[in-house]
Amino acid sequence: MKFNYLIVGAGLAGLTFANLLAQNENNTILIIEKRQHIGGNAYDSYNANHILIHNYGPHIFHTNNQQVWKYLSQFTEWQDYQHRVLSFVDGQFIPMPITLETINQLYNTNLSQFEMADFIESQKEKVELIKSSEDVALSNAGRDIYEKFFMNYTTKQWGVSPSELDPSVISRIPFRFNRDTRYFTDRYQGIPKAGYTKMCEQMIDRPNIKVMLNTDYKEVTDAIDYDKMIYTGPVDYFYDNQFGKLKYRSVRFEMEDHDCESFQDAAVVNYPNDYDFTRITEYKKITGQQHLKTTVMKEFPCDGEEPFYPFPTKEWQECYLKYKAKADVEENVVFAGRLAEYRYYNMDVVVARAMEMVESISSLSI
Ligand code: FAD
Repeated sequence: MKFNYLIVGAGLAGLTFANLLAQNENNTILIIEKRQHIGGNAYDSYNANHILIHNYGPHIFHTNNQQVWKYLSQFTEWQDYQHRVLSFVDGQFIPMPITLETINQLYNTNLSQFEMADFIESQKEKVELIKSSEDVALSNAGRDIYEKFFMNYTTKQWGVSPSELDPSVISRIPFRFNRDTRYFTDRYQGIPKAGYTKMCEQMIDRPNIKVMLNTDYKEVTDAIDYDKMIYTGPVDYFYDNQFGKLKYRSVRFEMEDHDCESFQDAAVVNYPNDYDFTRITEYKKITGQQHLKTTVMKEFPCDGEEPFYPFPTKEWQECYLKYKAKADVEENVVFAGRLAEYRYYNMDVVVARAMEMVESISSLSI
């Protein structure tokens, strides 16, 4: 059988391409997915207790991009949700990111927002040249805050000290001089009402899209006739690791069922300084599901096989650029998504980029 488009990977990048290309009824599309399910890392499913969990870690949808929000809203209704995170520090559960509430609780003070600004200013260390994430944290917030919230968390997350990590890693963490304890402040925030997997199913519910699961594309591409490939798998794998295997940080997840309605006071609690896991997520607090039991997930960052976070050092970025140089001149392959671009992207960005790229490869207007 002949297909116009062969899409490798059924994550949000691949599914957005499939959905938009399929709007032209003459296009035939085959999606090949190595796992036994669609949805990529946004996949969710019901566990043995019938509690909805996010199998690859908590996924909160948030965006300021109205076009992306409207586009995905064709496939799902949204459960309103504002994400809140606590951090277990000095024996207390303290709101993250760092807000006025965080500072007042941590230091047992009653500062106003102006006094907080002065306080943070007094804590900052002078760093002549910002070369690492540690430099960013010390110059932004000073040693005490750095050591309590970021130093050990980041070391657990990446397996190396923040002093060895690119400045971009810690500069992603926001500081707020007000009492807004929401984790994200984007205009549109929510969780698909029936789950991400159902939303993803809707995206490809079209007669001109076929899906092949449990299949590595390399096993079958020789036997399939297609015009163009959209590749959302790992870029190094595409080129048989010619310049070396790109380094990723992985995560081992441990699920626990508890015989109580509520386990913790927020959907996510970070443990920067205690235990080997970085955080505990209680799924019902994200999905809003009512249930007499609850399920929590502990995350243990590790150097496992499953690629999650591209390693944020110059060495690996340079290695990726060698692959990118080859990918950029491929005529019949479009590289898209977090693995093909070796980049941490949030879901909305992956969808937005796929929407833009579809426009550039087809005459379809969306
Ligand atoms: P993926 O979802 O990884 O999809 C790629 C697909 O390609 C996979 O299904 C894979 O199996 C398949 N594939 C790979 N190789 C092959 C092959 N050889 N043959 C066939 N198929 C192949 N984003 C947010 O916006 N909010 C969040 O709260 C959030 N939380 C996150 C938490 C964690 C722990 C992680 C790791 C990520 C989180 N993200 C979050 C990011 C989000 O997961 C990504 O933006 C999104 O999944 C990227 O979609 P994608 O299609 O590019 O990649």
